[in-house]
Amino acid sequence: MRHPFFLYSTIAASLCTASPTIQQRQTSGDVVMSGLYSIQGCGTNASRIATILSSLSPFLQPAITDSEKTFTSGAYNTFFKDVQNAPFVRKILQNIAFGAPVLPGLAQPGFGKVTSPVIACIPDPPIVNPDPELVGLTPWVQAFAKQDCHDRGERVYGIFIGGTNIVALCPGWFTFNRPDEPKEKRPCIAVDRATNGFRGLGYPLAQNSRAWLLHELAHVYLVAATNKRVPYTEVYSINDCFELNAGSQKYMPNNYVYYTGSVFYTCTNFPTVSFRDRELSTSSSNATDDVVWVNGSLTVTDLP
Ligand SMILES: [Zn+2]
Repeated sequence: MRHPFFLYSTIAASLCTASPTIQQRQTSGDVVMSGLYSIQGCGTNASRIATILSSLSPFLQPAITDSEKTFTSGAYNTFFKDVQNAPFVRKILQNIAFGAPVLPGLAQPGFGKVTSPVIACIPDPPIVNPDPELVGLTPWVQAFAKQDCHDRGERVYGIFIGGTNIVALCPGWFTFNRPDEPKEKRPCIAVDRATNGFRGLGYPLAQNSRAWLLHELAHVYLVAATNKRVPYTEVYSINDCFELNAGSQKYMPNNYVYYTGSVFYTCTNFPTVSFRDRELSTSSSNATDDVVWVNGSLTVTDLP
């Protein structure tokens, strides 16, 4: 993997007569479009990613429709609780389905323009000692994301680089080797009435390549929508997402994952929502272990 490193270093040298800011970083030739999304630096994996991206719109559409009837939706009431947040939730889902161009939240120099999300790939093994001044979007992402992707092992699936519209897929994302569950399999999560919670962690809905891509894209649009560092500690399991208060739920990527999956697979069993949940879990933390900032900007490194 060193060859691309030196290749891009050469490109960098030829361009850096201008100020060596992020604005000078141009895309490499490895760009594949999927609707409005672009897939960069993913080589032969690009077609797989494009297929999953194109499956997002039909996957999300039932939830977009469902979010208009929140008073009767068990899934909505479980994962977002407050009907007043439905327009916000719906807009996030519509943006993901469409790949809507948005201004990155807290845009960084060079990324302060409206773009659709970019999906970039992190190589395995990583570039050793990447040059942070590399020119080219993908090398820059690789240099930046190397540590976040690799140092925590295969459990890191994706990174949202805050202040940009870039999602980096780590090698761990490609370890999902089973296809996403077909609609007729209905991988709904069982409910334990005694504890008024779901059984297990929610993996059948959350641990697949489409769910994690959806998760990262939710980060993109949530930060763009709020243009602030959302003060929460990210949670992942289905019960953690269920138990959050409504104010936290609407900022939590996996709440979008569980909600859209529950609607798509027409799941019907949910714990009983208690309004006491509204009192839970608004963290005062302004960063979490899966949120990292590039020169003060945000990245989200996702662990299950
Ligand atoms: Zn996340």
